[in-house]
Amino acid sequence: MHIYPDATAVVRALAPDEPVICNRPHAAARAARFFAEKFPGKSMYAVKANPTPELLQILWDSGITHFDVASIAEVRQVRELLPEATLCFMHPVKTKSAIAEAYHVHGVRTFSLDTHEELAKIVEATADAAGEGATDLNLLVRLRVSSEHSELSLAAKFGVDLVDAASLLQAVRQHCDALGICFHVGSQAMTPFAYVQALERVRAAIAEAAVTVDIIDVGGGFPSSYPGMEPPPLEDYFALIHRHFEALPISYSAELWAEPGRALCAEYSSMIVKVEKRRGDELYINDGAYGALFDAAHVAWRFPVRALEDDLTQGDEEFSFYGPTCDDADYMKGPFMLPADIQAGDWLEIGMLGAYGAAMKTRFNGFGTAEAVIVADEPMASLYTGERADPRQSDNVVSLR
Ligand SMILES: *Cc1c(COP(=O)(O)O)cnc(C)c1O
Repeated sequence: MHIYPDATAVVRALAPDEPVICNRPHAAARAARFFAEKFPGKSMYAVKANPTPELLQILWDSGITHFDVASIAEVRQVRELLPEATLCFMHPVKTKSAIAEAYHVHGVRTFSLDTHEELAKIVEATADAAGEGATDLNLLVRLRVSSEHSELSLAAKFGVDLVDAASLLQAVRQHCDALGICFHVGSQAMTPFAYVQALERVRAAIAEAAVTVDIIDVGGGFPSSYPGMEPPPLEDYFALIHRHFEALPISYSAELWAEPGRALCAEYSSMIVKVEKRRGDELYINDGAYGALFDAAHVAWRFPVRALEDDLTQGDEEFSFYGPTCDDADYMKGPFMLPADIQAGDWLEIGMLGAYGAAMKTRFNGFGTAEAVIVADEPMASLYTGERADPRQSDNVVSLR
């Protein structure tokens, strides 16, 4: 595939009427190597953040060997592309047929759960033809933890409460080879103390249950960098997690796992969009709430933007966006900072869309097609180039709500 130097070169070459996804393989490879080398345990990629085959291959080639999958379609997709990858089925609510196919056909041995009912399902679905129970399961009990330090909560839906955790851990222990505890502190966790707090809850669960625990899985939530959301260095997260993991009452050979999604792929993609119309400080662009800008519309996420024109002379001003579909909900409040003289016919680049961006596109209202190209320049922000100002010097860590 042709490699363009940057998004401006793409616009010059293609003058695209449809959105174009600009992928940066070097940025995804750099993030993967960072986690593979520096996280003090095993990093598995949470596939839902961005399941494109090119990205999965880049992560595999850069040292990510484990993949967190949540549906049987994700199991099949990753297994076909990466036959030797280790797949972990980390959705706490699965159908029996999905568990059976994952175990018997695709070699999945690791499952998460948060109820006794799900345990019964897993035990039945993984038994052999004679009804003999599996002896090679890694079962991870998903513990409910706080999402208070994160920009997107994952606390309400899944996870066993601490008061019910002991009996579930004791029951699961009877049916697994390795027993684990997992949690998710919420996506874009803005401080490492989110993990410290969650690990304290893990400690309480282990003490109460008095079982041997072999795996501690701290889940996803590792942040990326967005306007108004500059997190501390990832090394701080790794160091605190490691210290508090080491202090847990767990077996000597216990393993530490993580399930980064966003942090491994946010920098991978940006998107070129065209301004179709301007009304005051509102720009009508050709991607939106039903496209790669789902989070910009639905949770007012701010993404970095830049104009891809060299004839704009005015300073930056705050803009909001409308997407291409016919309803008012296709609106992104921003603010997005762009030159005050931007106008219809101009192109923009929207950065940091590799996670929960390209993956969210629908075909609603006949929109949603996008070509993908490779570009060689740096992402608009990076946690991995070592060029960031130390955010602890400033107070720019803000919450969206
Ligand atoms: C979504 C999800 C992840 C990835 O979360 P990020 O915030 O993108 O790192 C990891 N584990 C589970 C179980 C998830 O549902």
